[in-house]
Amino acid sequence: MTFRAVRLTEEDRKVSAEIAELEDSELPEGEVEVGVSYSTLNYKDGMILNGIGRLVRNYPHVPGIDFSGTVSSSTDSRYAEGDRVVLTGWRVGEVHWGGYAEKARVSGDWLVKLPDGLSELQAMSVGTAGLTSMLAMQALEDHGIGSAPVLVTGAAGGVGSVAVHLLSQAGYKVAASTGRPETSDYLTKLGADEIVSREELSEPPAAPLASERWGGCIDAVGDTTLAHLLTEMQYGTSVAACGLAGGNQLNTTVIPFLLRGVNLIGIDSVMCPFEVRERAWSRLDELLDREILSEMTTLVGLADVPELASDILAGRVQGRTVVDVGI
Ligand code: NDP
Repeated sequence: MTFRAVRLTEEDRKVSAEIAELEDSELPEGEVEVGVSYSTLNYKDGMILNGIGRLVRNYPHVPGIDFSGTVSSSTDSRYAEGDRVVLTGWRVGEVHWGGYAEKARVSGDWLVKLPDGLSELQAMSVGTAGLTSMLAMQALEDHGIGSAPVLVTGAAGGVGSVAVHLLSQAGYKVAASTGRPETSDYLTKLGADEIVSREELSEPPAAPLASERWGGCIDAVGDTTLAHLLTEMQYGTSVAACGLAGGNQLNTTVIPFLLRGVNLIGIDSVMCPFEVRERAWSRLDELLDREILSEMTTLVGLADVPELASDILAGRVQGRTVVDVGI
């Protein structure tokens, strides 16, 4: 049997992508075979498809760091044919073949059964970015959120869009920071109460502390943006650092931590334990407005993936991009 997939090959350190027909026998080892319905385009997929960061070491490779689908066969007693499942992380799409394919073979330990209320398409509208947003919100809640608005940076992107919506659904006031003022209406619809310009926040901080503006922060940008917002946190609040869309450096002082008791919490959706994932998916099911989730989603086919990979690295993608592997 054959199946369609995006196949990445490498020659002279240059990575190229093509749509290929692969044989079932080429699939990697794993106890559970899944008929993939949807995958998504994340920032990391953009890096992988452009060969940035040497995240993939073995070629040919099938990328796609997440997917949803239906189990077609399983030697793992926890899964039966017909089970609807979702997979994010565990370095699938990096070390192991991923979701840009009609079939995947994976370890049962990496899967989560979909809550009844979420369709396979909705699960991927959430995807890795949305799960990360939920993990970040949970981390802020675990440490206590202040009375000022919660700031979301990179707000028009995948992590940011879901974060704005989730925080708003959970009842928090949300400030959305974006470099694209044209997305203001979109962000307001997701639940933002206030729009903050990217330029204002990406200036290196003028002093170790500034006025207390934020009751928490979900940061997808890093670099000077993170250094800047750390100086503006309310006493005893937290920043959940998720991403590095603006760069991976952090030039700050210890003052916000010493004099304001600020917590800097790293969020890792890749290796996070099963119980945490399961709780996050069930809370996503509970909080997400399905209509808004659908409005933040753009549906594309497998063949669109290579071109969109450059767009996401350039910060040109809005919301979540879901790949329907059947088209
Ligand atoms: P997107 O490209 O969808 O969103 C990133 C957003 O960041 C852009 O939409 C843009 O928002 C903003 N941005 C882009 N470039 C810059 C820049 N140079 N300076 C400042 N802001 C910029 O990516 P994702 O949402 O998928 O991922 C965001 C980050 O989170 C990435 O670094 C990714 O690797 C990381 N990530 C981490 C995970 C984890 O487990 N920790 C999981 C998933 C993602 P706007 O236009 O609104 O300004």
